[in-house]
Amino acid sequence: MSTPLFDDAATATDSLRLHAFASLNPGPRLLVIGGVHGDETCGTEGIARVLAEFDAGDLHLLRGELTLVPVANPLARRRLQREGQRNLNRLFRPSETPADYEARITNRLAPVIARHDVLLDLHSFQSEGEAFAMIGPRDNSGSLEPFARAQEEGRLALHIGTPIVVEGWLDIYAAGLAQRGAAVDEAAIDFGRGTNEYIRSCGGYGVTLECGQHQDPQAPEVAWAAIRRTLALLGMAALPPGLSAAPPQPPQLLRLASVTDRLHEDDSFVRDWATFDPVQRGEPVGMRHDGTLVSAPDDGFIVFPNAMALPGAEWFYFARPSERVLDPTV
Ligand SMILES: [Zn+2]
Repeated sequence: MSTPLFDDAATATDSLRLHAFASLNPGPRLLVIGGVHGDETCGTEGIARVLAEFDAGDLHLLRGELTLVPVANPLARRRLQREGQRNLNRLFRPSETPADYEARITNRLAPVIARHDVLLDLHSFQSEGEAFAMIGPRDNSGSLEPFARAQEEGRLALHIGTPIVVEGWLDIYAAGLAQRGAAVDEAAIDFGRGTNEYIRSCGGYGVTLECGQHQDPQAPEVAWAAIRRTLALLGMAALPPGLSAAPPQPPQLLRLASVTDRLHEDDSFVRDWATFDPVQRGEPVGMRHDGTLVSAPDDGFIVFPNAMALPGAEWFYFARPSERVLDPTV
């Protein structure tokens, strides 16, 4: 579905569009964001459908507050590119002297995120593969990403209903920095922090939903269903007719375990990998420019393979089945 409201060419790049609904009954504050990356349109379309349902009287807010941001990065959307001047989903924290367009967006969006309890951030991806959700750390009081709402976050991911849920990001990002010989200081780690890390740092929780491939015609449907299931889970709205509350079977839970960088422009994969392709311990994944094989460290899965990664940047992630169990109970 596309409406003039979300005409890419008509997107103003010097303001953010927010839609807010506030029930007179107190309840959770949910924020749904689309278009953090400009070429990812499924979230915007899912949000447009929810707005149309409100306008048609088919959706009624029972309690709490709902804020919808259809296009978080208007400059990137205008260009239909991932980024305006840089990746909005990095270095996500307010700054007194915003250095670029995304820093200015962050200064507007961060306070909006901070006043919500729950964030659903809608994305899509380049390579082939199924929709999946990403959740943060387990409850911990460490310094990297202290957290106390892992149960609620996991429950939300479970109820969104993707076949796969991936846990762990910032710790593997930090491990990648160390591996690269980069300084693993506050500034370097901050670069790995995005919208979800930000809401967690404010006391809330958040799930990143990767709805499918950028052009997958099902991706807007995945985004819409996730919004409606989240509203139902939080007791904020009834489920629409025909949409099941819970997925038919629990998702497979994977834990990011390591990241391997591409080191040379002649480093190449041994085949075209898709995210979540299974690999066995020792199975060749790629070949370095000098002929050295890069093999899977264990039985597991290839995640976010990027054959075109710049030397020194992430080539692929490796994930293992997680022993964590997501608790469905409210
Ligand atoms: Zn994205």
